[in-house]
Amino acid sequence: MTTRYEAVIGLEVHAQLLTRSKNFCGCSTRFGKMPNTQTCPVCIGMPGVLPVLNRTAVEYAIKTALALGCAITPHGRFARKNYFYPDLPKGYQISQYELPIGTMGALEIVVGGEVHRIGITRVHLEEDAGKNLHEGGDGVSFVDMNRCGVPLMEIVSEPDIRTAEEAAAYMRELRSILRYLEVCDGNMEQGSLRCDANVSIRPEGSADLGVKAEVKNMNSFKFVQKALEYEIARQIRVIEEGGRIVQETRLWDPDQEITVSMRSKEEAHDYRYFPEPDLVPLVIDEAWQEEVRRTLPELPAAKRERFVRQYALPKYDADELTATASTAASFEATVKAGASPKAASNWIMGEIQRLLNLESIAIEACPVSPERLAELLKRIEDGTVSGKLAKTVLEAMFKTGKDAAAIIAEQGLTQISDTAALERAIAEVLARHQKELVEYRAGKEKLFGFFVGQVMKATQGKANPGLLNEILKKRLAG
Ligand code: ADP
Ligand code: ZN
Ligand code: MG
Repeated sequence: MTTRYEAVIGLEVHAQLLTRSKNFCGCSTRFGKMPNTQTCPVCIGMPGVLPVLNRTAVEYAIKTALALGCAITPHGRFARKNYFYPDLPKGYQISQYELPIGTMGALEIVVGGEVHRIGITRVHLEEDAGKNLHEGGDGVSFVDMNRCGVPLMEIVSEPDIRTAEEAAAYMRELRSILRYLEVCDGNMEQGSLRCDANVSIRPEGSADLGVKAEVKNMNSFKFVQKALEYEIARQIRVIEEGGRIVQETRLWDPDQEITVSMRSKEEAHDYRYFPEPDLVPLVIDEAWQEEVRRTLPELPAAKRERFVRQYALPKYDADELTATASTAASFEATVKAGASPKAASNWIMGEIQRLLNLESIAIEACPVSPERLAELLKRIEDGTVSGKLAKTVLEAMFKTGKDAAAIIAEQGLTQISDTAALERAIAEVLARHQKELVEYRAGKEKLFGFFVGQVMKATQGKANPGLLNEILKKRLAG
């Protein structure tokens, strides 16, 4: 009998926090500025300087830890993680080791209709390193210290993830939570959210852990999934060919779509962690925890569940609409302004999203306000304008900033719901298409669509579809 294998995956996620200043000095954290313009003696590690902790960064980490159901460490402290690399001027990173801000949390993901609970080992606060630049191509490298000291939060999961798909789902859910909390922008391409994956395999049903490889350099959800699929298959192949997995760090190569070995365990760093002597212990008392807890928003999972319950939406709609807090807010404002929930959902996920994508506009900045969208949807419902022409109206609203009523009047898009006018249009069409009429009456019923099309054409699409169908059926019957 052949052995079946299962994968065991634990993720270490780094999230850059959206604070204005760095973790231990007042330098700006803005991305994309001229190299080395956002530095000071503290973040470039001059001798004799002292770090001062950024309170907002701690609050963001507490907020995240609470959102992930972690226990908060009341008496924590920072630690020095020592290693040498050109982008780390101090020769150590200020991090947390044995006393992180949060421990023992969990994150629930839904994959294939099943809920999986992924344990969160720890949430801790540390600082980012600078960036080496090798752009010249002439053998000279540069170091940009702007990123040195930017607040970084590390979120470590238990090895509870079993498939590449679950890993990608975990990343999506985590990013969504971080964005709802407004603590990280979650931009994987720019590196403000990064993921290292620890992967091993074992015979299905075994409770032991196999030797793991750590995979780095996956800067999108798609790459997380592809890299893990590749790595799991690679490890199974090695085992089945009688080989052994070695503990190592591997890099995902997105061009070749493979992982390649970067360094083995023997080359792994010994970080010589010790308590940071320049910072006082981090005391997070009950009062501070409560204060932060009160700022927690409704989280994505709760919102999804509420959208299904309160608005009777399909799960799919609830998932899409709650992907970001701002999309969810737009939807709720549209419904509050009088639109029916399903219509609001369809139009926001469809036409509104399409128009926003075309112009790369965020939904918060949508030129059509929720109130105006609701107004347009009411005009469809009361028959003033057909659903099809409403798309034209919405486009014009989007471009001009005018409201639905103004556009409908200006462009003469009011739907024809006048029976007499429709009767006339139908009579003309039937007179012009005697041949088809005879065929229809002889049993070629699929010509019905042809007649609808002809009347729509004659009325520039303005015929009320329900009424048209009704009258046309009668006239065709003779
Ligand atoms: P290390 O000491 O190498 O940093 P840790 O025990 O701190 O390892 O775990 C780091 C990450 O690796 C965690 O996300 C954890 O869940 C995961 N992990 C630990 N052991 C394994 C294993 N055998 N297979 C897969 N993932 C693992
Ligand atoms: Zn600085
Ligand atoms: Mg570790």
